[in-house]
Amino acid sequence: MGGEKGRYHYNILLAGVGEEGQKKLLASSVLLVGAGGLGSPAAYYLAAAGVGRLGLVDPDVVELSNLQRQILHRTADVGRLKVESAREKLLALNPEIEVEVFAARFSPENAASLVGRYDVVIDCTDNFAARFLLNETCLALGRPFVYGGVLAYAGQVMTVVPGKGPCLRCIFPQEPGPEAPSTRELGVLGAVPGVIGALQATEAVKYLLGLGDLLVGRLLVYDALFMSFTEIKVEQNPTCPACA
Ligand SMILES: [Zn+2]
Repeated sequence: MGGEKGRYHYNILLAGVGEEGQKKLLASSVLLVGAGGLGSPAAYYLAAAGVGRLGLVDPDVVELSNLQRQILHRTADVGRLKVESAREKLLALNPEIEVEVFAARFSPENAASLVGRYDVVIDCTDNFAARFLLNETCLALGRPFVYGGVLAYAGQVMTVVPGKGPCLRCIFPQEPGPEAPSTRELGVLGAVPGVIGALQATEAVKYLLGLGDLLVGRLLVYDALFMSFTEIKVEQNPTCPACA
């Protein structure tokens, strides 16, 4: 593990990480719900960092139109299960970790058993039904999760630590209706989920190592056209349908 030629040398050099921190990462686990635009960069960085066990949940197969942003997948992967394609790339990057894959929709039937097996969860979904289920499951099991969302040239990220601040439904009490704008209509610049997914991986590593200040109660909004990050303070909502 150590030595200046070791895989984790530049982690171990970091103040607050060291050999101890690296051992912690290798003994940690992260579940990524979604192996697409957000899941790709998030999983790559977590695998590279040596998070010892990653879980990937996604029922979909790779489509040609995914490749513009879902950088775990390649042209030859079109038609393959995303989780299989993802596992192959992640293990090629770092064969020292374990990658568990679940080719299934994240659903009320499997949510608790999946979330319960990991230390931290990353929301790499693309719809509010799945996000709300993830929010409720993580609150019930006391698991932290990192929310991320992207649309067109913008993205946002927030970390939810149950009992330590607001949850996702403190911000979004209701699921947006079908008239709400979606990436299916407005598109998304590929590098935007790259930024947001990398931030989500950063938050997960910070949580696992107890480093710095998490985005708890702080919704970070990224605007790629303006090239700005804006922080919105979020309080716990005393009438939140999920955590009140
Ligand atoms: Zn709440």
